[in-house]
Amino acid sequence: MKRWITFDLDGTLMQNPFGKWIFPEVEALVCAGLSEPYEVRKALVREHEARMDRNETVAAYDWDEMLRQLLGQLNLKLEIDIEQLVLKHSIQPKIYLLEDSILATLEKLKSKGYSLAVATNGFYKYQYPVMKELGLAEWFDEIITPEKVGCGKPNIGMVRELLQTGELVAHVGDRLDHDVYLANRLGVPSMFIYRDLPEALRKLPIEQRSADPEFIAICENKLKVENPSLTAVPLPPDYVATHVLYRLEELLECV
Ligand SMILES: [Mg+2]
Repeated sequence: MKRWITFDLDGTLMQNPFGKWIFPEVEALVCAGLSEPYEVRKALVREHEARMDRNETVAAYDWDEMLRQLLGQLNLKLEIDIEQLVLKHSIQPKIYLLEDSILATLEKLKSKGYSLAVATNGFYKYQYPVMKELGLAEWFDEIITPEKVGCGKPNIGMVRELLQTGELVAHVGDRLDHDVYLANRLGVPSMFIYRDLPEALRKLPIEQRSADPEFIAICENKLKVENPSLTAVPLPPDYVATHVLYRLEELLECV
C-alpha cells in the first residue's frame, strides 16, 4: 500500500517558460505574419477560459490545438510548434525551481517512504522537458497529466487511478480553485503553498493559519482572481486549506 503525496507543478515547484518566453515568441510570429499587432496571448487565454467554463479540462490545456484554431481563424499559414518551443526555452535561468531547497525536500519525503506524484494540468509534452532540466523528474513515481487520464483539476477523477495503488496522504498546490478544492473534495489534507504569507501569520501553527481573518481575506481576493465566476465571499469551505505553507520545507512538519 503506497502512501502518495501529489504535487502541482507551476507556481508550486517550478516556473515554466510559457509566460515570459513562449507566448511572447508566438505573439511575435503571429504579428509578423499579420503585419499588424495582435494580442495572441489574450486570445489563447480567452479560449482556455471558455473551455474551462465548459468543463473541458483536457482541451483547455492543449495549447498547440488552440493555437492552430486561432491561426485558422486568422487565415494565417504559419507552422508553430509549441512543444518545440518548450524544448527550446527549457533552459535555466529561463525556467527555475521556485525555492533552492525543493529537491532536498522531495528527497527527504522519499526517504520517509512516501511515493510522490505530480498532478498537473499541463500536458506531459509541455511539462516533462521542464521537469527534466530542473532535476525534478527523477523524484516522481507518477506524472499525472490531463491528456493521460481524461480530465484535469479541479476534477477529482484526475487521481482515481493513483488511489487504486495506495492512499493519498496530501495534495500540495498554489491554487485555491484547483489544488485546495481537489484535496478538500477528496477529503485529504490540502497543503496550500503561499509564499507571500505575511510575517505575523508565519508565526502561527501551520494548521491554524487558514482560519485567520487576515488570511481569509487574502484567499477571497485570490479566488476572485483565479476564477471570477466563483462566489469567493464569504470564502466557501471547499476553498479553505487545511494547511498553509510559505515554503515547501514546511511540508516535512505536516506529514
Ligand atoms: Mg499551480
